[in-house]
Amino acid sequence: MAKTKSSKKTTTSKKAGTTKKTGTTKKTGTTKKTGTTKKAGTTKKAGTKVKAKPVSEKTIKTAVAAKDESAQDSVESIIQRKLLALYTLQQIDTQIDKIRIIRGELPLEVQDLEDETEGLETRINKYKQETEDFNQQMANLKNSISESQELIKKYEAQQMNVRNNREYDSLSKEIEYQTLEIQLNEKKIRELEVAVQQHQNIVEDSQNKYEELKGDLEVKKKELDNIVADTKKEEELLNKKSQEQQKFIEERLLNAYKRIRKNAKNGLAVVPVERDACGGCFNQIPPQRQLDIQMYKKIIVCEYCGRILVDDEIANTVKVEELV
Ligand SMILES: [Zn+2]
Repeated sequence: MAKTKSSKKTTTSKKAGTTKKTGTTKKTGTTKKTGTTKKAGTTKKAGTKVKAKPVSEKTIKTAVAAKDESAQDSVESIIQRKLLALYTLQQIDTQIDKIRIIRGELPLEVQDLEDETEGLETRINKYKQETEDFNQQMANLKNSISESQELIKKYEAQQMNVRNNREYDSLSKEIEYQTLEIQLNEKKIRELEVAVQQHQNIVEDSQNKYEELKGDLEVKKKELDNIVADTKKEEELLNKKSQEQQKFIEERLLNAYKRIRKNAKNGLAVVPVERDACGGCFNQIPPQRQLDIQMYKKIIVCEYCGRILVDDEIANTVKVEELV
């Protein structure tokens, strides 16, 4: 519903603009303007992008060729050309941004996986080391038990040859002490056995997780390599196109474009009016301002975000696909 409304509105305002335009242009009678107005009409009616395509290239090319004759042209066609050049540059730069975003996240994912596998490796090694320590402790305890058992045997033998009860009792106390030692050490061994088992479980789990992550990591790494290889060429081409396109834009305007783009989170400096709102910050644009945008009397920026605004006509003429 809202869509129909807005499109109706644009149509009416466009008509208003056209009437005015033809009124003023009667003197100069530029073919350009009537050409574009007609085209806008066809695009609206037919609503096909196919028809808009050849238009765009022609318009851009004429814009470039006619750069020097700008003095003879009307304000409207100069502004329209500037906006077209700017919006074209924006489309190229947006595509470069997209490539960088795709690549930008993947290295992070790879980095995360690398960190995680490294962390698991450290964990596994730590638990393995601790298990070794536990085993060493158990071996020591078992030695102590053997020593205690030897002592008990020795004391029992000595008890056979005692001269009095006092000697016998003293040996009995030694035997009792060694028996307690054995019990204590056996308890320690049981505790260590439990700890070793727990450690082994953790090591096993971590190792499984490690294998899984390592697999993911290999896949992601390969993906990253492919993307880098694929996009490198495309990015270079787009960068070249961007540089070329920048030559068609006067320095002051280009600097403004770069400044706005730098400050905008989404890298958009030139945006179309979409559903009566700014295509960059989505704040509503008053009808009068929308009309001003369609008039091409001057370059108009969004009063909220400062982005340069273009109308449907320009937005529809420039398509990214045809640039690459
Ligand atoms: Zn805005």
